[in-house]
Amino acid sequence: LLPDPKNFRRLLLAWYKKNQRDLPWRKNTDPYRVLVSELMLQQTQVKTVLPYYSKFLTRFPNARALAAASQESVLASWAGLGYYRRARFLHAAAKAVAKQGFPQSAEGLLDLPGVGAYTAAAVGSISFGLPLAVVDGNVIRVLSRVLALDKDPTTGQGKRELDSAAQALLDPSHPGDFNQALMELGALICAQTKPRCEACPLAAHCLAFRGKTQESYPRLPTPVSTLKIHKSIALITKGANVLAMPRTLSGRAGDEGRMLGYWHFPELELKKGERPEAMAIHLAGENAKLKIRLASFLHSITRYRIKVDAYLFTSEKALKGWRWIGLRELHSKPLASAERRLLKALVAFGSKD
Ligand code: SF4
Repeated sequence: LLPDPKNFRRLLLAWYKKNQRDLPWRKNTDPYRVLVSELMLQQTQVKTVLPYYSKFLTRFPNARALAAASQESVLASWAGLGYYRRARFLHAAAKAVAKQGFPQSAEGLLDLPGVGAYTAAAVGSISFGLPLAVVDGNVIRVLSRVLALDKDPTTGQGKRELDSAAQALLDPSHPGDFNQALMELGALICAQTKPRCEACPLAAHCLAFRGKTQESYPRLPTPVSTLKIHKSIALITKGANVLAMPRTLSGRAGDEGRMLGYWHFPELELKKGERPEAMAIHLAGENAKLKIRLASFLHSITRYRIKVDAYLFTSEKALKGWRWIGLRELHSKPLASAERRLLKALVAFGSKD
């Protein structure tokens, strides 16, 4: 049961005009700016993205500037945002755009590295006025409720029904604003829990609201459970240098397989019953002397909950394949958040020592 599209669009767009947030990627519809924002916003909250977006745009103001940058500097600007594969895709997409210009069709956009149906629809509708409906998590939630969709909206028949409803409701004369309005409504009003239906412009069209069943939609499968990992890390120092190197092979914990190029320290994933200190000593090798347990913390990457125990050693001899690097120099390299935290602890310890 589809609401009347004309009325739906009118109410939604009028609400958006009054209530949209002032976000930096909405300043203009330049496709490069939109692409950067869409990739940064995947699986990441707006408030987390904001400072990264401004810094990234200052450093790489257009596709040409990004294409000309080294991979290391791109990764360094992304460090801390997570899902690092996005940075590499964005870099590759910028190289393609710098060569051939920005594609202005859905097919052309889909050919860019890292651009799937969602990102192509977002950039295509916002920057080029293409009539492509965006279906992200917010849109899934709003439309599942409006339609009281009784199927899983992310797969099979449920997905097809939701995609075709989104496409039928899309305003072909303002596709970019319509898509952003629906996403904004999901972000600001139609929240996962306690949606603010009294402030919602679509309440008159919403079957879930009518049936007071808002929170039972969307009918998503139970989320994948989290995985726990315990890691032991050895920070082996010689004067003001520490042993580190960029990741080359896929790790197993979290999305480290996608973190190629990010610098890290010798580390081991512990098996059941293994003691972190004993494993760190094993990692550091017989030439190293254990000083202290430097840090112990929990951090999360995607569905992994990782406990980190890090130990500080001194040694005169490098481990095979690892290189001595000055702490200051390491600071300028691409570092994921756990490694950045360890480097900070190392610097703080050094200044006390
Ligand atoms: S009426 Fe409530 S449940 Fe329905 S779309 Fe609006 S906020 Fe969401």
